[in-house]
Amino acid sequence: MQFYNLKHPDEKVSFSQAVRQGLGKEQGLFFPESVSALDDIEGLLSLPLVERSCKILAPFVGEELSESELKDIVTKAFNFPALVQPISENCAVLELFHGPTLAFKDFGGRFMAQCLQAFTRQSNEKITILTATSGDTGAAVAHAFSGLEKINVVILYPKGKISLLQEKMFTTLGGNISTLAVNGSFDDCQQLVKDSFDDHQLSTSIGLNSANSINISRLLAQICYYFEAAAQLYRQRGKIDDLVFSIPSGNFGNLTAGMLAKALGLPIKRFIAATNANDTVPRYLQSGKWEPNPTVATMSNAMDVSRPNNWPRVEHLVNSGLISPESLSAQTIDEEQTQMTLIKLSGLGYISEPHASVAYRALQQDLDDGEFGVFLGTAHPAKFKETVESVLGQPLALPKELADCASEKILSLPLDDDFSQLRTLLMGKYASPLMNEAAS
Ligand SMILES: *Cc1c(COP(=O)(O)O)cnc(C)c1O
Repeated sequence: MQFYNLKHPDEKVSFSQAVRQGLGKEQGLFFPESVSALDDIEGLLSLPLVERSCKILAPFVGEELSESELKDIVTKAFNFPALVQPISENCAVLELFHGPTLAFKDFGGRFMAQCLQAFTRQSNEKITILTATSGDTGAAVAHAFSGLEKINVVILYPKGKISLLQEKMFTTLGGNISTLAVNGSFDDCQQLVKDSFDDHQLSTSIGLNSANSINISRLLAQICYYFEAAAQLYRQRGKIDDLVFSIPSGNFGNLTAGMLAKALGLPIKRFIAATNANDTVPRYLQSGKWEPNPTVATMSNAMDVSRPNNWPRVEHLVNSGLISPESLSAQTIDEEQTQMTLIKLSGLGYISEPHASVAYRALQQDLDDGEFGVFLGTAHPAKFKETVESVLGQPLALPKELADCASEKILSLPLDDDFSQLRTLLMGKYASPLMNEAAS
């Protein structure tokens, strides 16, 4: 299938180009040329995760990856489960944190890494992945690409604005993974990434590629766990047409993937976009005005984003009629509500973390009678150990993945919020000598 640039619909690229390029002209996002309902949803739901996911993904990637290549990629990428756990009579959590870095971004990150490895295996080109993270993307990307050949990874993150454990999960690997601690906010980091893509000379010299949630491969991968949740709930309940997904949102990649799942025929009733105080989208849905405020730091720091970069795709899904406007609402949850809800969940016997807590609280405010709520558990509570322990007043054990890296040394270099400094560093480290000469 072809993918087109939402800003320049004439620019059409193949799946492999869309994955390698990340963004189109003028930083336009790629979108699949056709999104049509899949046949036999019930049959799909009866399949195991990997087989079902191959069937969902094949129409998007099928021309460039053989059936067996796709199966190999999906098998390696989705080598851990997505689990639905009951919370109450009309509510369940979809736990997406059973992968190697304990967050849902493992699904997209690992699928993207495996796709890129398949595409670069034959060619002699080198790729530099440049991505910004407010926490979990960094870990997922770093682990997904660690040790792959001909692919270097550079991760920017806001210094001092993520937890120490989060930082340790992606800054201690070394090898082909470099990390830069930026003196600025996450939005500043995103801007540095955008500036790099805008710099044609830099981008071609180092084979620039983005691995954050703007990459279409990550979104396609994320569609698969909405089907997995529906499959589990269908088995348990015998129906799914009353499902309301509450999605803790930062860059709105997760919501985009859910909407794509619905557009592909999964009978999800509707979505609630749950944000923290970085509430650009809830205010926009109320007022029709897009007025981002400066980003504020919250407990759910992976959602501290005031200019969500996937929003144009959400808008396109609605404006093009793929998703009806009534199937999206939004809620803003403040810090106190987030804490109270963590305590409430703990009272129900479920230890959660701030992002899922925001989503659960939004369900409580917005779920109607006759609906069944599913909130996304986007990270393992131990990734937010300090916060969860201080709110609940009880110690949390570290799972093995975190215990292993907690004792390792952080290998990051400091960087000012200054594009020319980043450019010099990238050109020096990754540009091939030939390209350097030609460019100077
Ligand atoms: C990235 C992240 C989010 C936000 O997801 P988006 O797709 O950017 O909206 C929510 N929770 C956690 C734990 C995350 O890491």
